[in-house]
Amino acid sequence: MDNLWSDREAQVCIKRCDGAGIGEDLALRLYSARLLGGVPNLVLHGGGNASLKAAISDPFGDELAVMFIKGSGSDMATLEAAGMPTVRLEPLLRLQTLTVLDDLAMVNLLRGNRLDTGAPDPSVETLLHAFLPQTYVDHTHAAAILALSDQSDGDEICAELFGDRAAVVPYTMSGLGLAKAASAVYAGQPNCRGLILSKHGLVSFGATAAEAYAGTIDLVNLAERHLNWGRRKIFASIVLPKGRPSAGQIGPVLRAALARADDALPGGYRRVVLAHRGNDDVLNYVNGQELVRYSQAGVVTPDHAIRTKGLPLVLPAPESRNLAAFASRAAAATARYAADYAAYFARYKGPDTVMLDPLPKVILVPGVGLFTADRTARDAAMVADIAENAIAVISAAENLGRFASITEKDLFEIEYWSLEQAKLVQKRKGLLSGHVVAVTGGAGAIGAATAAAFAREGAAVAVLDLDGSRAGGVAARIGGLGLACDVTNAGAVVAAFAEICGVHGGVDIVVSNAGAAWQGKIGEVDDALLRRSFELNFFAHQLVAKTAVGIMQQQGTGGVLLFNASKQAVNPGPDFGPYGLPKAATLSLMRQYAVDYGDQGIRANAVNADRIRSGLLTDAMVAARSKARGVTEADYLAGNLLGREVTAEDVAQAFVALAKAEKTTGAVLTVDGGNIAASLR
Ligand SMILES: [Zn+2]
Repeated sequence: MDNLWSDREAQVCIKRCDGAGIGEDLALRLYSARLLGGVPNLVLHGGGNASLKAAISDPFGDELAVMFIKGSGSDMATLEAAGMPTVRLEPLLRLQTLTVLDDLAMVNLLRGNRLDTGAPDPSVETLLHAFLPQTYVDHTHAAAILALSDQSDGDEICAELFGDRAAVVPYTMSGLGLAKAASAVYAGQPNCRGLILSKHGLVSFGATAAEAYAGTIDLVNLAERHLNWGRRKIFASIVLPKGRPSAGQIGPVLRAALARADDALPGGYRRVVLAHRGNDDVLNYVNGQELVRYSQAGVVTPDHAIRTKGLPLVLPAPESRNLAAFASRAAAATARYAADYAAYFARYKGPDTVMLDPLPKVILVPGVGLFTADRTARDAAMVADIAENAIAVISAAENLGRFASITEKDLFEIEYWSLEQAKLVQKRKGLLSGHVVAVTGGAGAIGAATAAAFAREGAAVAVLDLDGSRAGGVAARIGGLGLACDVTNAGAVVAAFAEICGVHGGVDIVVSNAGAAWQGKIGEVDDALLRRSFELNFFAHQLVAKTAVGIMQQQGTGGVLLFNASKQAVNPGPDFGPYGLPKAATLSLMRQYAVDYGDQGIRANAVNADRIRSGLLTDAMVAARSKARGVTEADYLAGNLLGREVTAEDVAQAFVALAKAEKTTGAVLTVDGGNIAASLR
């Protein structure tokens, strides 16, 4: 592992902080914390923490001993001064005299000793930092250190390898106990550069930021050399069946097993979004003959427990010819996992403990890779990063000896530790989190607004458009997946949905929105033009719906097909036959899907919108038409019963409303500001 410290960059950071009124010591603290945070093998997704002790002057001019400590909710890689609450040191040091301190009391004390009461909560490992006398303290969950420590004789291995350089703190749960144990071990070996927290991670320290940082790198390098890091264990593989399915084929099967009825959405399902990883390291691990032994031994660091749960679900290797058999095995294994989890919970729960979701977060499928399941695409990806990191640690640990973790009781204590749970209490996730949405014509005005509206509801959104780069642009803005797709091409549609299944595990809601308007008097229009319009404005909707329904059936949790109909489908305008006729057929198509698939919980609805500024009704067209009618553009656009202009956002909200209307199918929602001639009844 390279020492990335650069005096030049440190100076740049000092200068930038100086401009913001931040002193040199804290600037260097931020600089080295970010260096640590940028290396996944040291720190992952909110893990790790860093501190600085300093003396400041209080409002009376008296000197006050304080500590800057990473706050909850900050990421080391992007740490800013605002993410480091300042706490009074003296009152925290007095806690060393206590033998027990309950969680709430500790949180209260940490909060109460912030200088800025509006600052974030100090890290749950604040006391660990406070009790060590060194100015700069860094705490990471370094992968190589974990691989050494995660052995049944890990403490002995570490003591022998690190000698005077680092002292070993036997496993203790985070909080007052660990902070006291660490400070006692340090007192016995005050010349060490760091502490190995058994089966948990590494602490290094120094009088300067550079010294503490170098301590982390040097100790990790020592561990990496001992482990021969980079040359991981090659596990003896099971014999895999021929004809292995892709991640995209497995995804809907797993989502079927992992979905449950949703109390918050009557008639709906609590679904999960998947992430998949299938690189060589992952496959080496999941294909191993002893997968069950080493994957069921526990977490590589307690910090992972709240994200990944203690154990992954291991499934048998699937065969692409017999996915139905795999589906029933996956469902049975998931039910067994949930029952085992409930039993584990019952073994250790206290009188008021509430059980977390008993379903697995990490699923290992030999031949295909690892899948993770969470409520948003972002969370699923985060869990996948952590699971991959765990695979690296376990593979290295198995190369040295045998991977071993903390006890099941210790695992429960950390998983149900209220302070760890607090890390997961984020802003309420949207009602459609867990859902995967595909929007065709996603780069247009209505498509982009719809994609963004579903993303705001917490859904994972795939933006499909003929123009792949524009689809990518919309997707980047909303954190979605952008795909080029010609919806009139059956192969392209199937490939795009396979890609969505590969990335997110399936699809639940489809907004079939792509369309284009062609004009011509119906008795004179060119046949080719009419057929071209039917290809896009009717057959493409059928292709998209048919492909999506196939996936929805595998998931077994219903689904929603939403079509962008048009006023033309209900109330034909002169010379608009080439557009209105296929749109009328699409309206019937929607009803046919409602009829044929209602018994499977698949709903089909349409939005009938009119006069929206978009690629179909461009600014130039608005100008021309309003001029032809002798009205202003605003009056032209607001020429409806309500006298209000209807926007792409209004249409987007209608799609979202229909997606949530679990008891509505075969319906058309009109969004046109009121037009009696075009009203359906
Ligand atoms: Zn930790």
